Amino acid sequence: MLSIRNLVHVYPNGTRALDDVSLEVPTGMFGLLGPNGAGKSTLMRSIATLQTPTSGQMTFGEIDVIKQPEELRRTLGYLPQDFGVYPRVSAYDMLDHMAVLKGIADGKDRKATVESLLNQVNLWPVRKKALAGFSGGMRQRFGIAQALIGQPRLIIVDEPTAGLDPEERNRFLNLLAEIGESVVVILSTHIVEDVADLCPRMAVLADGKIRLEGAPSDLLGQMQGRVWKKTIDKADLPEHRVQHEVISTRLFAGRTVIHVLSDAKPGPGFEPVSGGLEDVYFSTLSASRRAA
Ligand code: ADP
Repeated sequence: MLSIRNLVHVYPNGTRALDDVSLEVPTGMFGLLGPNGAGKSTLMRSIATLQTPTSGQMTFGEIDVIKQPEELRRTLGYLPQDFGVYPRVSAYDMLDHMAVLKGIADGKDRKATVESLLNQVNLWPVRKKALAGFSGGMRQRFGIAQALIGQPRLIIVDEPTAGLDPEERNRFLNLLAEIGESVVVILSTHIVEDVADLCPRMAVLADGKIRLEGAPSDLLGQMQGRVWKKTIDKADLPEHRVQHEVISTRLFAGRTVIHVLSDAKPGPGFEPVSGGLEDVYFSTLSASRRAA
């Protein structure tokens, strides 16, 4: 279990990227959802001990993350947003090199580790290919393989599905779900479906604050009967925004479909829809904007 209490991060230029963040993250997949600039990467880097928060506490099991960063790193697997380096080195050689860096000195142990990881992420057939020639999905799977070296108990993946095509994304998320059965996996993303499909628990971060936390199924349940849909002309949107709590708008066949949050039918032309996680997310964001 990862426990985060009252975490604050203020950058030297005064940006308050994390503002009193508290979270309990149990074993399994945990989805951290938020728009760009919400503070997700800042939180991921703080947990990964790459930057020290301004104030607050974090523990992972017995480890005090801020006071014992070395201990935490020993049990951490981290796939950063910009993994970045894709040299003309084969996947096998690169992973072997990274295993050396992670302290697996014994050649036999290392061979076993590298081979089993390449199989697990389905890169065994292309192990001799240079990373430079890998597709986005293959790179991300390689990124997970390196994050899994040394059997970490805490795995952090920061926006891993950005830029993947649907098939690659599916394959990558399935891989994460398998891993997430026995360890803590934190998946930071701005893509609602990543969380909806996989995560038994989630939180929404916006403007450095946790705006919502829970099990997606419970959060969905709270929306039942409160989401309404209407198809309107685009020109009528400003008026609807004044009269209703519009949580999302979408173009459909040249017209605008709006979703509105309301305990009762908001007016003529509205019909009830069973709210999805996207409605939960957008209504949380719109409430946090109103509070700002
Ligand atoms: P996210 O990952 O959700 O997009 P970030 O953690 O990258 O959010 O950024 C949160 C806020 O902190 C943003 O306003 C961003 O501009 C700011 N920020 C991020 N990194 C730095 C930095 N090194 N110095 C100053 N401000 C930063």
